[in-house]
Amino acid sequence: MSLSSHIITSVTAETITSHYPRAVGRNSFRPEHGSGGGHTVVVLRTNRGASGWGLPGRGLSQPAQFIGRSVTDLIDPDSGVIDPAALPLDLALHDLTAKILDLPVFAMLGGRGERTTKCYSGAIYFDDLDPENSPRGLDAIQRNLASDYDLGYRDFKLKLGRGYRWMSHRDGLRRDIEVTQLARELYPDADILVDANDGFTVRTLAEYLEATSGCSLFWIEEPFQERPEDFRALRDLLDACGSAALIADGEYDPRLDMVWRLAADNLLDVALMDVVDFGVTAWRHVMPRLADLNVRASPHAWWIPIKTLYAAQLAAGLGNVITVEGVPGTTSGADTSGYQLSEGRLTIPETPGFGIPLTV
Ligand SMILES: [Mg+2]
Repeated sequence: MSLSSHIITSVTAETITSHYPRAVGRNSFRPEHGSGGGHTVVVLRTNRGASGWGLPGRGLSQPAQFIGRSVTDLIDPDSGVIDPAALPLDLALHDLTAKILDLPVFAMLGGRGERTTKCYSGAIYFDDLDPENSPRGLDAIQRNLASDYDLGYRDFKLKLGRGYRWMSHRDGLRRDIEVTQLARELYPDADILVDANDGFTVRTLAEYLEATSGCSLFWIEEPFQERPEDFRALRDLLDACGSAALIADGEYDPRLDMVWRLAADNLLDVALMDVVDFGVTAWRHVMPRLADLNVRASPHAWWIPIKTLYAAQLAAGLGNVITVEGVPGTTSGADTSGYQLSEGRLTIPETPGFGIPLTV
């Protein structure tokens, strides 16, 4: 059945629910991340009986405006969403279109990567600082690492920047260093990624890098806001200590002009725009240019476990993804069993669309 014969007949909302394996605590600036929660998803149906769904992007308004529109009016399978008003339906339209074409999304995106991708745990937060009246300290970090290892993760991202808001500068930096050294000591083969959520200064980072020079960090994420002069200082620091750590940024409220500027100046190694808010279509547009500039990608996925699955489809479809951010947890209302995490690698299914049936 040709794509153009499919007309959207309904746009409805459903709710799925994420469950983390444990309550997730603070990062450098946010108080706590809870245990999961409900998310509205949008479901599209066509006059030919096809359906697709996904997390909505920002700014979905008047969903009824899409009823009566041809699918080919809204999305081109070769490039993504073509009507800007339909961009908040990016994921649902990709799921729907790939299902109509009887293709997995990654194949519709070009199949330039691998179906199995490295996937790290992004859930090592500041649980050492809680509960407030009797903080658990480094034992909490050790337990969380072990718990995520048992789930199948082999690489870990450690949140840094305890001295930004929650501890004194001195104590926070010391703890950040201890956490890093602990993770390296316990998991000698792991990729250790670190993320300060813009909670460091260049000087703090210099002290941190010196103290952890034996930890062979995989990447440094969002150490501070994206200012070229500070990123130049970061590159110089890494070069001076002979570190191979990658510079990862572009997650928070990305300004693409800054991403391109840093990339052109060799100050960015991994681009982190969000898989939902930035979106599949935007990723399809920027990936070839990033690859030309020798910048790898890792679409941001935190807080919803199914965002990890979307990111893995992008990795298999567009290529150039160095690793996928794992959000440990399960989802009720959606069957994610086609995706398998084992030995630190996530394998995606070959079923049409995203291969995640709604079960609500
Ligand atoms: Mg981050």
